[in-house]
Amino acid sequence: MFGSLLQHQYEYTENPKEAELIVVNSCSFIEDAKKESIDMILSMSEFKKTGHLQKLVVAGCLAQRYQKDVESLFPEVDHFIGTGEYYKISSIVESQSRGNYSIPSYIHSYEAPRMNSMPSYTAYLKLTEGCDRRCAFCIIPKIRGKQKSQSIENLVLETKALVQNGVTELNLIGQDLTSYGTDLRDQRTNLEALLKELVKIKEMKWVRLLYCYPDHMTEEFLNLLRNEEKICKYIDMPLQHIEDEILKSMRRGVNSYKIRTIISRLRESIPGFVFRTSFIAGYPAETEEQFEKLYEFVKQEEFDHVGVFTYSQEEDTHAAALPQQLSQKVKLKRKERLMMLQSEISLKKHKAQVGHELEVLVEGWDEAKKLYQARSFGQAPDIDGNVFIEPWVSDPSPEIKLQPGQYCKVKVKKALPYDLIAQLT
Ligand code: SF4
Repeated sequence: MFGSLLQHQYEYTENPKEAELIVVNSCSFIEDAKKESIDMILSMSEFKKTGHLQKLVVAGCLAQRYQKDVESLFPEVDHFIGTGEYYKISSIVESQSRGNYSIPSYIHSYEAPRMNSMPSYTAYLKLTEGCDRRCAFCIIPKIRGKQKSQSIENLVLETKALVQNGVTELNLIGQDLTSYGTDLRDQRTNLEALLKELVKIKEMKWVRLLYCYPDHMTEEFLNLLRNEEKICKYIDMPLQHIEDEILKSMRRGVNSYKIRTIISRLRESIPGFVFRTSFIAGYPAETEEQFEKLYEFVKQEEFDHVGVFTYSQEEDTHAAALPQQLSQKVKLKRKERLMMLQSEISLKKHKAQVGHELEVLVEGWDEAKKLYQARSFGQAPDIDGNVFIEPWVSDPSPEIKLQPGQYCKVKVKKALPYDLIAQLT
């Protein structure tokens, strides 16, 4: 949307007060995301009175999911654009068309105009749109449609264009990376084949995998992760739960044995492997015992990064109709217990890194902390913690100057629950 608008003579401003057109790219996969989107729509609509705003656009999943409802709920919005129509944004904002929805079938290609909204050295590369799985709690397949994969050739061309603009870190995304290419049914498009092409791009430094399903994991995939320097030894694999009855009710298609096998295969094959995962606390009918199994699992496995969501009852999903929905109080309590446990684990793991050397990607200067902010291969942008670097090599020595996008070696000095403090080596 960004690329398309810029190509059509729009200019970007960071300041919503100056903007004549504001696009709220909404989300609606859980209750909290809906609330955040609605708050943003309401606060942006104020700029019609206090700023220069002429047109307010709501794009994305909230628009797609609630079509007529949002149209009547937000009279101040000029255009709604669903998940299958976003590439038409430039013509939609010039038209009178208010509701713009279709069954999502669009997948962008490298030819579509793209403006990287991340800092110049990093980017997301979207491999797929939509999802062919049917997890009982999840509304995403209904709002984003069936899986549609980009071809390897397209993705390589898109990456080369990003690299030309300074990108050296690539974060691969999609609803389910593990299934990348299955919809093309051509026997040659898969994650392994794509990774092999991406690492050939000379200037690319780090390729990181987000959103992998705990499904099949080929030897070839493990070999690539182990041996290919440019592929971060990092995986984000949402596990959701570990108790078999709950996994069955979630319609995840995997059981605890399979999940444990995948984790041990990853850990045994790749020393120093960084594992991010997420869980749902308070799924319908989750008993205390079932939750304790999850708690013990998190304690035993000592993952590097864990996200916990309270179960969100989403209409039109299978799980929403299940009996024994738990109270918000129980869900929150369980979430907090898991988060508390994880912060102890995270601190322990960080303490073990003190004295060790790390390669980091510098992101900039944190004025409040008076430290440089950076990330290691094991820290994905926005979701994981940071490595903060002291602005001198040894105190008192002259201050060092680090540039965003620069890679450097540091030695870890201090551990915090979610961040590390380090010194340049
Ligand atoms: S794999 Fe992810 S996006 Fe697809 S249905 Fe399951 S939870 Fe939803």
